[in-house]
Amino acid sequence: MSGLKMPEPQAATLFRRAEIVADMRIIVPGEGVVDSEEGMRVFESDGLTAYRQLPLVVVLPETVAQVSRILKYCHDRNIRVVPRGSGTSLSGGALPLKDAVLLVMSRFNRILEIDYANRVVVAQPGVTNLGITHAVEHQGFYYAPDPSSQIACSIGGNVAENSGGVHCLKYGLTANNVLGIEMVLMTGEVIRLGGKHLDAEGYDLLGLMTGSEGLLGVVTEVTVRILKKPETARALLIGFPTSEQGGQCVADIIGAGIIPGGMEMMDRPAIHAAEAFVQVGYPLDVEALLIVELDGPMAEVDHLIERVSEIATQNGCTTSRISTSDAERLAFWAGRKAAFPAVGRISPDYYCMDGTIPRKELPRVLAGMRELSEKYGLGVANVFHAGDGNLHPLILYDANKPGDLDKAEAFGSDILRLCVKVGGVLTGEHGVGVEKRDLMSEMFDESDLNQQIRVKCAFDPNHLLNPGKVFPQLHRCAELGRMHVHRGQVPFPELERF
Ligand SMILES: Cc1cc2nc3c(=O)[nH]c(=O)nc-3n(C[C@H](O)[C@H](O)[C@H](O)COP(=O)(O)OP(=O)(O)OC[C@H]3O[C@@H](n4cnc5c(N)ncnc54)[C@H](O)[C@@H]3O)c2cc1C
Repeated sequence: MSGLKMPEPQAATLFRRAEIVADMRIIVPGEGVVDSEEGMRVFESDGLTAYRQLPLVVVLPETVAQVSRILKYCHDRNIRVVPRGSGTSLSGGALPLKDAVLLVMSRFNRILEIDYANRVVVAQPGVTNLGITHAVEHQGFYYAPDPSSQIACSIGGNVAENSGGVHCLKYGLTANNVLGIEMVLMTGEVIRLGGKHLDAEGYDLLGLMTGSEGLLGVVTEVTVRILKKPETARALLIGFPTSEQGGQCVADIIGAGIIPGGMEMMDRPAIHAAEAFVQVGYPLDVEALLIVELDGPMAEVDHLIERVSEIATQNGCTTSRISTSDAERLAFWAGRKAAFPAVGRISPDYYCMDGTIPRKELPRVLAGMRELSEKYGLGVANVFHAGDGNLHPLILYDANKPGDLDKAEAFGSDILRLCVKVGGVLTGEHGVGVEKRDLMSEMFDESDLNQQIRVKCAFDPNHLLNPGKVFPQLHRCAELGRMHVHRGQVPFPELERF
């Protein structure tokens, strides 16, 4: 696994593999246990395909009772567990471990309740994000957070990653749309947090679990808010000669008090790749392309379209088109939505990064990326959730060229360092996983990290759930707060660090 350091496999677990597989078959009878090499290959990686590893065994439970028994079994025998939804994580959150049970939640694929009166859907965690909208769209409702992977990613995975999408600028991330969950802790205990109501008493444990990347428990049920579809939606396609002008236009739109339903930016390489792929008439003579969608009542949308057009003109746009039909609006989006596969056509491999910056820093960060691109000799294409400052640079490389992957990873790390340096954060929506784990200390000092690890320890003191992900540190809770490095002498040198 290209230089990625993961926790040493536990020899005792590997030694007992046959016994563990047999016990899993008792807990999950039928076809829910996969232990053959070829069967497990399917699960060896997630969306961060640069890394792969066969798990100890793959288990696909169907009931909460089975999940509870599996976790209790593993807890009592000190066996590691990696939860997995659809395996689309781009940060390696669902990357298997050699000595861990891979707990795949895809058979939890039923909508349990649709409650229009309370405007909620109760779903099992393996239901796809888009599956929720499909279940309610005939009544004019939809589920707002819309990751580009929504056709495949699971709602349980969305909760674990606090996923976002184009519409999150106006309607919020997963955290703002999840009202309740059922979760199984590592001990096998089943807990419920929140419900159909808007707020829960006590600490915001639901907020804590949302974005916990499978480190605190396994989500077995999700209650989400659904929204009525807006009366209308129209989009503008606006081209600028410089990214500075595009970035300023975004700031001015938000500054004018307008919150578009979506506001996305692409740079020249991404525009060209997308246009070559979907041919929707993107202008090819601009440096930055903005797609701005306004949604709501017809009169309001018409008014806002005019306001945004004026702001774009004031910022020196050289092209501007307003959609006149829903088909045209969707065509504007088609290139953006296909940007990743489009870039896949111009480069054998690409590495998708995810960092967030204050909006006004965009030109500085894009300039920094151009310098880094020269330094590493690798191209980069940018798609950008402009409204909320979430960058997705796609670093172009060739995995078959020796050293290219290492260069792409170093380039990606430098981009994220730059994001932190300009006042941003390491991740926008893809999570930390293994990808950004070793950069956590760029953002948090030791006491910040220790405080986060204490939360982990409260739920999973033996670090059996998804170990090696998110935290770059010492993994025994008992030693927390006692680690002082004196003249380079690390205490507890016998303890595993990764
Ligand atoms: C082409 C593409 C486009 C993408 N676009 C976006 C985007 O626009 N916005 C965005 O936010 N993300 C995007 N992603 C990333 C990814 O789809 C999301 O992170 C998604 O939420 C992962 O869901 P999953 O079901 O695939 O989870 P997995 O990849 O299986 O797992 C992700 C993490 O969640 C944990 N997990 C999964 N299920 C559970 C559960 N039931 N209980 C506890 N922990 C669990 C895992 O341990 C892991 O840490 C994209 C990915 C791809 C491949």
